[in-house]
Amino acid sequence: MKGLLYQAYAMARHHSQLTFLNFLRKAESLTEEQIKKLQEERLRAILRHAYENVPYYKKQIELLGGPQTIEKDVKSFLLELPLLTKSAIRESWEELKSQDLKNRKWFYNTSGGSTGEPVRLIQDSVFREYGQAVKALFDLWTGYRIGMPKVILWGSERDLFLGKERFKVRFGRWLRNEYWLNAFRMGPSEMREYVRLINDVRPVQILAYAEAAYELARFVEREGLKVSPPRAVMTSAGTLYDYMRETIQQVFGAPVFNRYGSREVGDIACECEAHEGLHVCPVTQYVEILREDGTPVGPGEVGEVVVTSLTNYAMPLIRYRIGDMALWAAEKCSCGRVWPLLKTIIGRVADTFITKDGTRVHGEYFTHLVYFRDWIQKFQFVQEDYDFISLLVVPSCRFEEAREIVKHEHQDLEKKVQIVMGGSCRLEIKLVEDIPPSPSGKYRYTVSKVAKGG
Ligand SMILES: [Zn+2]
Repeated sequence: MKGLLYQAYAMARHHSQLTFLNFLRKAESLTEEQIKKLQEERLRAILRHAYENVPYYKKQIELLGGPQTIEKDVKSFLLELPLLTKSAIRESWEELKSQDLKNRKWFYNTSGGSTGEPVRLIQDSVFREYGQAVKALFDLWTGYRIGMPKVILWGSERDLFLGKERFKVRFGRWLRNEYWLNAFRMGPSEMREYVRLINDVRPVQILAYAEAAYELARFVEREGLKVSPPRAVMTSAGTLYDYMRETIQQVFGAPVFNRYGSREVGDIACECEAHEGLHVCPVTQYVEILREDGTPVGPGEVGEVVVTSLTNYAMPLIRYRIGDMALWAAEKCSCGRVWPLLKTIIGRVADTFITKDGTRVHGEYFTHLVYFRDWIQKFQFVQEDYDFISLLVVPSCRFEEAREIVKHEHQDLEKKVQIVMGGSCRLEIKLVEDIPPSPSGKYRYTVSKVAKGG
């Protein structure tokens, strides 16, 4: 009943979302040739818009021969366009805004902090509605339809700061039949409670941070608990290693669907029921994987992921360096969809922090703490000991200015660290020139010197 109620509500409230979803479903059965045409048309559309409304791109497109060059071979044209880095966004922020913003329902967002370089962005309602439609489509692949019971093991700092979410948020979740568990606080008593709730609700899908699903699975195993199996476990945010997938699958008795996305461009790709890779949604994203010299990789060759969002006209991100590595699958997926297929994503790596009483705190919590703090260009949280965390910051302003800001913000940050790590945990903020990647070459935004192997 609740599910039906929500469907009726959603149809009235999110009309365009449903129109987009219908379009995506049609795009599932297009041929390779049709997908290619569709992508080229959508690329041209955003490039034309960028030329006409976005000063940053107008300049670049002029340099490459003017707008008529877009009309020729658009994919070759795109290869000429410089990559968009986070520091370029920071430096050219004003010129990246679309000049027609006043006609759009726009809002601020921030890049996921998981590459350790937060940056502020502008998105609009069309981008958001399309994003919701993509989520709904990926859900369908797992056998889940809007309104069915779903358990979401995700991070909520608001819940920790204020004790609960806003009424509107809680009501929306109730209506959608969603049950939210906080991945930012996973002590033994919480995890026992989470398992009890899963057995009560019997969700069709469990959606979780990859790391959090794995932690919960290991807890269930250790404690010898029983879990009522959902139809699917969907993991997102962070790298899903094979050993994690195996444990989750075995403990929850359900297949794992890995989903790949980010706050900057929305969901990008997801596994279908065949589990042979992650299909990129070609209506909303154009993905390139590049070698160090900027040329596209061949199938099975690892390279850097570069994404063009085909739906955000408020602040177009064209050839955006998202900060992950990936490779294309060499074979087509047996499901029959011809959407581009990523074999794996070699993504973000974060350590989970651990308190003295054994509570595990997902690394994502710490990235949320630096959202909308524009003075932080790059960061890394290091758990030196149970009661001591240092925060390394490469400031986006001069060091003297940054020192003043630290004086003002240190207390607030330390308090928020203490909420999860305990009242005796100290936070030290160190300003540094640079934060080098780990020896493996991967950048870690949280490093724990105590949680290893725990
Ligand atoms: Zn497939």
